[in-house]
Amino acid sequence: MAKLIVSKFGGTSMGDAECMLRSSEVAFRQGSSVVVVSATSGTTNDLIALGKTAETQTWEEAEKILAKIKTRHQKIAADLKLSDDSNKKLNSLFEEMESLAKGVHLLKDCSVKAMDALMSLGERMSSVLCTQAMATVLQKQGSNKSAKLFDVRDILRTDDSFGKAKPQTKEIAELASKQLGFLRDYKTVIVTQGYIGRTEEGMTTTLGRGGSDYSAAIVAEGVGADVLEIWTDVAGIATTDPRICPKAKPIDEISFKEASELATFGAKVLHPATLLPAIRKNIPVFVGSSFDAEAKGTWIRKDVDDYPLIRAMAMRKKQILVTLSTPEMLHAHGFLFQIFKIFNDHKVSIDAITTSEISVSVTLDDSTLLNKKLIQDLSEIADVQVEDNLTLISLIGNNINHTPGLGKQIFETIADINVRMICLGASKHNFCFLVSEDKSTEAIQRLHQKFVEA
Ligand code: ASP
Ligand code: MG
Repeated sequence: MAKLIVSKFGGTSMGDAECMLRSSEVAFRQGSSVVVVSATSGTTNDLIALGKTAETQTWEEAEKILAKIKTRHQKIAADLKLSDDSNKKLNSLFEEMESLAKGVHLLKDCSVKAMDALMSLGERMSSVLCTQAMATVLQKQGSNKSAKLFDVRDILRTDDSFGKAKPQTKEIAELASKQLGFLRDYKTVIVTQGYIGRTEEGMTTTLGRGGSDYSAAIVAEGVGADVLEIWTDVAGIATTDPRICPKAKPIDEISFKEASELATFGAKVLHPATLLPAIRKNIPVFVGSSFDAEAKGTWIRKDVDDYPLIRAMAMRKKQILVTLSTPEMLHAHGFLFQIFKIFNDHKVSIDAITTSEISVSVTLDDSTLLNKKLIQDLSEIADVQVEDNLTLISLIGNNINHTPGLGKQIFETIADINVRMICLGASKHNFCFLVSEDKSTEAIQRLHQKFVEA
C-alpha cells in the first residue's frame, strides 16, 4: 500500500524560484501527498518589522517594507511563470497585507492578534508560489497527480493564545478526515502553510516562531500520515553543531526520546514541539536537506538499532540561574508547590532544577528577566538571586543515569571549568549542567572529542 507522506520545507528551501522547484522535485521523488511550507526566507521577520513600523512610524516607512516583501514574491512569481489564477491569489494577499498594515497604522496599535494576521501572510504567499512550483514539476515529470493549494486553517484549529496558539488535536483530526480524506487516492499533492491556524471564531493564529515543523507534525497526525519529513538546509541532525565542532557527524538514526531532549536542549534543527504529535501517533520522522536530498539524513523513530551511551550533545546559551531560598522550607511542605505555581501563572517553563533543604535553583531563558512581575512574585515568598551569562550543556544518549563512572569521565574532561549546577538522575537520556557562557564552546569541544570523536 502506498504511504501517506507529509513533507515540510523550511524558509531557506523556499528561498527563491529555484529553491521552490528543487523542493518540489524532492517532494515528487518522495511521493509526498502533503507539502507544508514556511514563509520565504526572511519574510516573517519583514512582516514583524512591517507591523512595528506601521504602529510607530510614518506610513512611508511602512510602505518601504511592503514594497520589499512584494518585490521578493513578485520576482519568484515571474520566475515560476505563475498562472493568472495564482497571480490573482497572490495579489489579493498583497492587498490584505496592505490593508492590515494600514489598519495598524491608523490605530497606532499592533496587537498580537493583528501581528498574527500579518505574519500569516508569509506562509500564505509562499504556499501560493510553491503550488505553482509543484504543478510545474508534476507536469514535467509526466505525473498524473495534480497540485492543489490548501488553506491549512480549514483544519488547523487552535485556541486563542495569539502568538503561540495551541493546536486542538481532536478537532484537527475531525476536520482533516472530513476535508482531506481524498489524500488516500494519491491523485493530489496538496501544498499548504506551516505556522498558522485558526480559532473556532475564525481568527487567524500562529504557533510561535519556527512553528512550521510543529504544524507539519500536527497535520501528519491529523491526516494519519505514515511518514513525516522535515526538509531543511542541513542534512539531518548532527552529533553537535558542526560550526562549533567541525568533526560533528550526521546521525543516521535516533530515538524519539533522545531527539526530544536534543531539540528541547538546544539543537536548532527541529522545533522542540515537533515530535509530540509524531510520538503520539508513532509516525517516523525524517530530517534531510532539500539542497542535498541524496545525503543520508536522520531518521527519528520509536525504536532504533543501537543505543549508544552518548549520541549527541547540545548547548543552550543565554540561560540564567534563579536561586530561591527561604528558611521556611526547612522541614516544611508546599514550598515547591508555591514556587511552581508562580512559574505556572506566568507561563514560564523551567528546564533544569536542583534543590537543597532551604533552596531551589532553576534554569530559565534569560528573556524571562524581562518579566519583572515574575521576579517580584517570587521575591514575596523567597530570597531571589539571579546569575546570568550561563550556558546549559546537555549530553544526550541512553542509560545515562545507570552508568557507573560517567560523571567522572565528563568532569575529568572539563576539570578546569567551573560547573555551576548539575542535573542528573531524572532522565535516562540526558545529563546536563551549567557553565559560564565564555567557557561553553571549549567545554563542548572537549566533550565531543572525548565521547563522540574518540
Ligand atoms: N515562518 C515562521 C518563522 O519564521 C515559521 C517557520 O518558518 O517555521 O518563524
Ligand atoms: Mg523556520
